Parts: sequence; C-alpha cells; structure tokens
Amino acid sequence: MSVNKQDIKDWSNARIKQDQVEKYMKYGKDFIDDDYISSTLDKCKQPDKKRIRDIIEKSLNIKTLNLEEAAYLINVQDESLLREMQEAALSIKKKVYDNRIVTFAPLYLGNFCVNDCLYCGFRRSNKEAKRKVLSLDEVKKEI
Ligand code: SF4
Repeated sequence: MSVNKQDIKDWSNARIKQDQVEKYMKYGKDFIDDDYISSTLDKCKQPDKKRIRDIIEKSLNIKTLNLEEAAYLINVQDESLLREMQEAALSIKKKVYDNRIVTFAPLYLGNFCVNDCLYCGFRRSNKEAKRKVLSLDEVKKEI
C-alpha cells in the first residue's frame, strides 16, 4: 500500500495524543534536560590529562561513566589522549564481546514514524521518503 503526504499527516496526527505527551513533561519540557547537558559540556571543557586517564581507567574496569565524565571525554582534543581512548575502547570491546560479531536482520513492516530524529530517513519531516506499510502477503514474502 503506498500512501500520499496527507495520509502521512493524518496518520501521524491520529497517533500523537498531546495529553499523553504532556503528562510526562515537567514545566512544559521533556525529560532530556538540554540546559543541563550543555552546561555540563561547557563546565568540562578543559580536561587535564590526569583526569582523563582516571576516567579511561574507570572505563577499563567496566564501570559506567557519569555525565560529567562523558563530557570530559567528549571534549578531549589532545591527539595522544584520543589514541589512549581508542586503545581503551578496543580493549573494553574485546573484554566485553571478545571477537564475536553480532548481526541482526530487521524486518520492517512499514516506514511511518511520528518522531523526527534528524539522522533518520524515516523521520516525519522527510518529505522525500516514499511511505509504505506492508500487506500481510508482503510480510510473509519478506519473512
Ligand atoms: S530513529 Fe527514525 S524511526 Fe526511530 S524514532 Fe527516530 S525518526 Fe522514528
């Protein structure tokens, strides 16, 4: 079944229930605190090498990093520290997953979405996307 732009708008409008969205918002904002994230990134702009190496060490011990620690790593510019981070990432990957390669084969039933993630071709603002929902026969064929 192929659909036109008005169908997409109607589909999207029928699914987004504003009262269901707003009940999870605090003071009109969603749960992602943009100001807090931005201010943490700003606050952690000048990481010293010792601090970064402590964070790398924590990662190597498979401990979850907090937002501030992640912000310090994001702000690293020093080439040698970036290399240490890459080596640590590889080491952690091997520790956690070893040499396994995990693959998956998604079965898409349709490409409508009410959301608008900028990186995604399914985002609702992508006017170029050809929208489709598979019929049951098409689903069987895909399987
Ligand atoms: S990533 Fe794509 S499909 Fe997933 S919610 Fe965002 S826009 Fe929709």
